Amino acid sequence: MTISLRKLTNFAAEMKGQTKGAGRFAPSPTGRMHLGNIFTALVSWVRARRRGARWILRIEDLDPGRSRAEWARLIEDDLHWLGLDWDEGGAEGRGDHGPYCQSLRGEFYEEALRRLTATGLTYGCTCRRADIMATQAPHQSDGRIVYAGTCRPAVIPRPEGERSVPDGVATRIWVPDRDITFTDEICGETTVNLARHCGDFLLRRADGAWAYQLAVVVDDALMGVDEVVRGDDLLLSTAQQLYLYDLLGYRAPRFAHVPLVRNEQGIRLSKRDSSASMEYLRAHHTPEEIIGRLAQMAGFRPDPSPVNAKSLITDSL
Ligand code: GLU
Repeated sequence: MTISLRKLTNFAAEMKGQTKGAGRFAPSPTGRMHLGNIFTALVSWVRARRRGARWILRIEDLDPGRSRAEWARLIEDDLHWLGLDWDEGGAEGRGDHGPYCQSLRGEFYEEALRRLTATGLTYGCTCRRADIMATQAPHQSDGRIVYAGTCRPAVIPRPEGERSVPDGVATRIWVPDRDITFTDEICGETTVNLARHCGDFLLRRADGAWAYQLAVVVDDALMGVDEVVRGDDLLLSTAQQLYLYDLLGYRAPRFAHVPLVRNEQGIRLSKRDSSASMEYLRAHHTPEEIIGRLAQMAGFRPDPSPVNAKSLITDSL
């Protein structure tokens, strides 16, 4: 495991004077958790607990083809085993801001889409994946897909009366060709031009599935989340979310993108790294050993000795 420690040490120390709100952990139930997921959960949990905020467990099961209730159950069981408790959410949906499974929150996304549609910035898109791939610039080596605007109407915002997107057609939102700058608690000042980064992006797929970018904004806003801690693979997509926060008139939370945990080869952990999976970890370690090691990586403690999660709440730095 390797990780950038310097920035996180500062981050762990900078917690004074922050208001109570909510933190959250939002796993996709597409497999068993690994060390990287637990690291993110731990940082988010400790920060919420230290400032007396609620901690929410939201199940991001938007992708019907890849999500399974069985994985959600195992994620909850692993969090319990580690001692990371939540005040709201989970599959049983305890709390005032439910449901906490995204697959059950369609009415909220529907309402947000209605409001975005009213801005005249949304439009229907009939491009297939192959069409979009064919328009990609050859130098784009990082795997990002930039939508070239093939279906974009000539006039944006669209005039009244031309706004419904029929069933079976995807919905996109127009993005401006200008920089969006925000300050991440860990990564610092970050600037993204959405037109160059992703182009007009999806709010809803042609098969009716809601896009992560829309769902995450609606959920974090309606659940009162004021600090989002997640992996830094999502750093740049934060600009897409800030754009939606702005259009929907929601107040954006603080963002803290933690470095991804990497394996010995320096490659980000995936479900294939079996020695980092919860299944392996639970068979070979105590919860205290795992928490102790991750707490040191996060800068919450100076050494990796075993510790239980609760004691990190009051531990002095
Ligand atoms: N569901 C995403 C994941 O499991 C996290 C998204 C987020 O925290 O905003 O990686």
